[in-house]
Amino acid sequence: MGNPKGFIEIPRKEAGYRPVNERIADFSEVEQILDLSDRLLQASRCMDCGVPFCHWACPTHSRMPEWQDAFYREQWEKAIATLQLTNDLPEITGRVCPALCEKSCVLAIHDEAVTIRENEVALAEQAFEMGLITPQPPRRRNGKKVAVIGSGPAGLTVASRLNRAGYEVTVFEKDKKAGGLLRYGIPDFKLTKAVIDRRLDIYEQEGVRFRTGVYAGKDISAKELTQQFDAICLAVGARKPRDLEVPGRELEGIWFAMDYLTQQNLINDGANISGRRRISAKGKKVVVIGGGDTGSDCVGTALRQRARSVTQVEILPQPPVERTEDNPWPFWPQTLRTSSSHQEGCERLWSLRTTKIIGKEGRVTALKLEKLEWKKENGKMIPVGTGEKTKLEADMIILAMGFVHPMQDKLLKDLKTEYDDRGNILPEQHEREIPVFAAGDATLGPSLVVRAIASGQETAERIHAYLER
Ligand SMILES: Cc1cc2nc3c(=O)[nH]c(=O)nc-3n(C[C@H](O)[C@H](O)[C@H](O)COP(=O)(O)OP(=O)(O)OC[C@H]3O[C@@H](n4cnc5c(N)ncnc54)[C@H](O)[C@@H]3O)c2cc1C
Ligand code: SF4
Repeated sequence: MGNPKGFIEIPRKEAGYRPVNERIADFSEVEQILDLSDRLLQASRCMDCGVPFCHWACPTHSRMPEWQDAFYREQWEKAIATLQLTNDLPEITGRVCPALCEKSCVLAIHDEAVTIRENEVALAEQAFEMGLITPQPPRRRNGKKVAVIGSGPAGLTVASRLNRAGYEVTVFEKDKKAGGLLRYGIPDFKLTKAVIDRRLDIYEQEGVRFRTGVYAGKDISAKELTQQFDAICLAVGARKPRDLEVPGRELEGIWFAMDYLTQQNLINDGANISGRRRISAKGKKVVVIGGGDTGSDCVGTALRQRARSVTQVEILPQPPVERTEDNPWPFWPQTLRTSSSHQEGCERLWSLRTTKIIGKEGRVTALKLEKLEWKKENGKMIPVGTGEKTKLEADMIILAMGFVHPMQDKLLKDLKTEYDDRGNILPEQHEREIPVFAAGDATLGPSLVVRAIASGQETAERIHAYLER
């Protein structure tokens, strides 16, 4: 423990966000950076608890007490080595993770948690600046080849771990650039894409081969993959969006969140998209259906595109501000979360079900909504319609109601992929010509970057154990 009294003497200090009027004028990262001396003091707040619940809560089981102690003492090499031991992409989770760890920090019982996520990104950035994060190519190759399909955080973790263990790894990515949802889903104002490029550059120098713009199943067939590789890992994400089946769904002006966010990310990357193909909220009354993180990213994007107004509609009831008795520490708090995008100016409505979309001359003009009451029945929350109807004007609707499971496309069909009862890919399938594994959202359903990384780590180990036999 850097300073045994750190948690008593030093209050929690967050770097905070750039001022709203400044940040909504651009797509640059919203979060600021604390200066190094303040950051080291924040790391000294870690109490090195006998049972570090933060370590239990983090899916990669990060060793927070150890790396924060080394960080505070400015033992840079030890600190970054300890952090990277369990987290392959700390510069990314440090920016976008909801910090499951902090909600389980022992300090959070009656004080403010250690700023673990911010300390993580600060340490990673310091290590990059000092040249401590460098390519680690394998000393020798073992002659075995693995195809990883998909270059999101799960695919990247599998590829990097197996490559470092001596496998020849090729990552196939259907998009123009690698990164998956990190690049085309998460907006630049949360994660600047230069951060992904810097990591990809390291992976390439280590010997990972990236074949972008190649749709596995179409541009390279399942048969070719089977002939050319010793194992296949499906890290294809869970991209089938949940749709809204109500009258009026066919009207113009209704978009899936991913189509909307991807286009803005492409434009930020220099793409020229204009005319009818351009999805813009400029001057429009925008309604985002879905109150989760994807919806919040749409809110921030619409505000930056100069929407006239932005309203976010959620079917679930408004969560409480504080933990309830049946949701104690150290579990994830089911409390109200307000993102930087919400703070930028958006109305949030709760317990509303969309019953109809109204339009004029083929274009959306409004939504009809019914107020719901949530009742507990046999321990489950059940929505009950109250009959109370409202109408919300809208000339653009964004559907951000989550994703159901992976796109079960040609590659998966040709590989005779097996699914669980939610439609996600089973993690291991051996009864075929070569073993097929799966990692990340493709197996978990829509989840988090840190869970995709943890799943990638486990999958790399399973592939190694199988091919080593
Ligand atoms: C808008 C949005 C915002 C999010 N924000 C956060 C956040 O702030 N924090 C957080 O922790 N999580 C966030 N998430 C969730 C997080 O991004 C995902 O859980 C994570 O990216 C999943 O990683 P993955 O590698 O499993 O899949 P993905 O990132 O989805 O990557 C799958 C890749 O596979 C490729 N692919 C699919 N099929 C093929 C094929 N046949 N051939 C070639 N390539 C193929 C896809 O093009 C894609 O690049 C967000 C998700 C969304 C949608
Ligand atoms: S990855 Fe997320 S949960 Fe794990 S230590 Fe970092 S911020 Fe915490």
